[in-house]
Amino acid sequence: MIADDSLLIRAVVQAALEAEGYQVMLAEDGRTALQQCQSRPPDVILLDIVMPGLDGYQVLAELKNDPALSHIPVVFLTGRTGMADVVAGLRAGAHDYLKKPFEPEELLARVGSALHVKQLQDHLRDRNAALDRISRTDALTGLYNRRHLNEVLALRYADARRHGDPFSVLLLDIDRFKRVNDTYGHPTGDLVLCEFARRLKHELRAGDIAGRWGGEEFLVILPRTGASGVLEVAERIRAATAATPIIAGEAHLTVTVSGGCCSGPGDSPEDLLRCVDTRLYQAKAGGRNLIVAADVKVGG
Ligand SMILES: [Mg+2]
Repeated sequence: MIADDSLLIRAVVQAALEAEGYQVMLAEDGRTALQQCQSRPPDVILLDIVMPGLDGYQVLAELKNDPALSHIPVVFLTGRTGMADVVAGLRAGAHDYLKKPFEPEELLARVGSALHVKQLQDHLRDRNAALDRISRTDALTGLYNRRHLNEVLALRYADARRHGDPFSVLLLDIDRFKRVNDTYGHPTGDLVLCEFARRLKHELRAGDIAGRWGGEEFLVILPRTGASGVLEVAERIRAATAATPIIAGEAHLTVTVSGGCCSGPGDSPEDLLRCVDTRLYQAKAGGRNLIVAADVKVGG
């Protein structure tokens, strides 16, 4: 993008850039430049300093304030020759500057370098986003992992406390899972975990957050959900698991799941986790294929 109030400068710079194959957007003042950036962010901005309305420093400040635009490199185009102006621009976050009048070769070199930095930054940001996704995902089932569940639990719990909303947690554990691994081998065990994860996900409502808590344990966080709501979801998951055998090659495995649910907010997330753990234990002791919530038992 070329943002400059001089028609001549715009035309000269545009011609030089287009000759190199760049696509050019033009803005004749600071306000227009910002609007265009918001609707179609450019890769590099050549920004005049002295313009009517918003000057270049103000445009730069607005860009740096907007998380969606702050990473676009800005090259100041300035007719001012004082070093103070250049330093002020760089201090405010400009990538580079070019003094008018400038040679087209120098212009192209500086735009090329700004573009290179932008591409490296974009690449890094994409990679960071991908790594962040991976660090929160259970590799086997594709559900969230324990790390992410702990984070979400803390955040949603605090939210529920602040607003006085009901809040529930459900801990599920596949019954006699060790037997599956021992009898059919670990690949079959993995298949059972994946199929269970798929059925679990299918029974969730929008807003429920589920992940693999570890081994054959799965945790579901249910914001804005009270005792009857979590029990309903838990019972659906239990029933969907028991209803249809999981097919692994020749084997048709009837798999069941037990669960403990707890509704709060209670005193702390740890409190809720202790509570669901106890109830899950009660469900196991009560014969498995069972959901235990407070003193309510469903299924079996
Ligand atoms: Mg000007």
